[in-house]
Amino acid sequence: MQALRKTLLQWYRANRRQLPWRETADPYRIWVSEVMLQQTQVATVIPYYHRFVAAFPDVHHLACAQEQAVLKLWEGLGYYARARNLHRAAGEVQRLYGGGIPESLAEFRKLPGVGDYIAAAVLSIAFQRPHAVLDGNVKRVLARLQVLDLPVDQPAAHRRFQALAQEMLDTRLPGEFNQAVMELGALVCTPRQPDCGRCPLAAACSAFKTGRVAEYPKRRQPRSVPEHHIAVGVVRRDGRLLITRRKSEGLLGGLWEFPGGKVKMGEGAADACVREIAEEVNLQVQVQAFLTRVKHAYTHFRIRMDVFTCRWVAGEVRLNGPVDYRWVRPTEIDAYPFPRANTKFIPFLLAALAGE
Ligand code: SF4
Repeated sequence: MQALRKTLLQWYRANRRQLPWRETADPYRIWVSEVMLQQTQVATVIPYYHRFVAAFPDVHHLACAQEQAVLKLWEGLGYYARARNLHRAAGEVQRLYGGGIPESLAEFRKLPGVGDYIAAAVLSIAFQRPHAVLDGNVKRVLARLQVLDLPVDQPAAHRRFQALAQEMLDTRLPGEFNQAVMELGALVCTPRQPDCGRCPLAAACSAFKTGRVAEYPKRRQPRSVPEHHIAVGVVRRDGRLLITRRKSEGLLGGLWEFPGGKVKMGEGAADACVREIAEEVNLQVQVQAFLTRVKHAYTHFRIRMDVFTCRWVAGEVRLNGPVDYRWVRPTEIDAYPFPRANTKFIPFLLAALAGE
């Protein structure tokens, strides 16, 4: 095991990518990067990271920010609960610890949004605490090294993987070692077509030595992902457009959107649009035109979203579901944070309105 650790660390030092959060020892910046990197690719995160730490360079600035400003900088990155929790956690770090991130696992773990992965990553990288990280990359490397038949996507197997990761950890250099395993998973021991010929751990890898790399990691049977048909209306009144804000909790919480909802079985999308707007914001509208169809995938479902422009006919806004609303000029839309499914069609919308 000691030889494996040494080999992996040597490989990491020679092959690691230069990433902005690897050029800092600031626990806050490492924390921000790890939150962003959960569920999101490195290349996507880099520009978001730069913009975020430029706007909020430390815990104090983030703690004092408006949630809407935080969400705006997160727009397009997805999994918005991460941003809301990071913002709330910064407030608690400011209030409880004077802006200094706690080094104790028990204290850091109590903060909103800080789970096992974030706690282990930040405390090991920033403070050299001996906690092994466990993410998809680490599980895959472990499963192949040890030909583990445990499904990596089974919650019950998580504890076993965590124990194995902890056994493998180099506790003298936990931050560097954690990053080395994850980097190996990202660059060499990739999900498809791992580059075993270039792998520093090939001599110790049971899957490679027995010719069974393609069999690992094991997974449960993939579940089918449902698709929802959604109708959305851009309601126009006196040159302004209606946008509504979702409640703070839950999927896409706190973000703005155009009103709409699920199309019922046997219902036309335009009819669903009119019905949903009446139910959600109490307005009578008439569909003017079909604007576009947007497809978007979330973790557990996909949507097929038909977008219509609508004319206000009667009624005043009374909210049933959303927590806020605005009538905005098209030029003001950019100031609000929207989910990705909306930002996919907003450029079409603005172009269509400009061409009238
Ligand atoms: Fe992964 Fe291949 Fe290296 Fe084994 S030898 S750890 S399967 S890249």
